Amino acid sequence: MPDHCPVCHQDFKIEPGFYIGALWTSFPIVIILMALISLLLLVYFKMEMNWFFVTLAIILFLLQPIIIRLGRSIWIHLFVAYDPDAENK
Ligand SMILES: [Zn+2]
Repeated sequence: MPDHCPVCHQDFKIEPGFYIGALWTSFPIVIILMALISLLLLVYFKMEMNWFFVTLAIILFLLQPIIIRLGRSIWIHLFVAYDPDAENK
């Protein structure tokens, strides 16, 4: 993760431990993804329970880099207002 935004120079390291709170934004993302993937695997593919849990764990593990970045992005947007003209200042 970069220290500053390359466009508007927003400091991404606001304070130590700032992104610990991003757990609260990435958790709902994981829950929604788990529900959707579970529906897909159990209803559409009619997967056995043992294979279902293994497949779900692998899929969620592989999606972690995306989920973490999305959660952090939502978290920082709660505290820092987006300014479309910041580049021109
Ligand atoms: Zn920026």
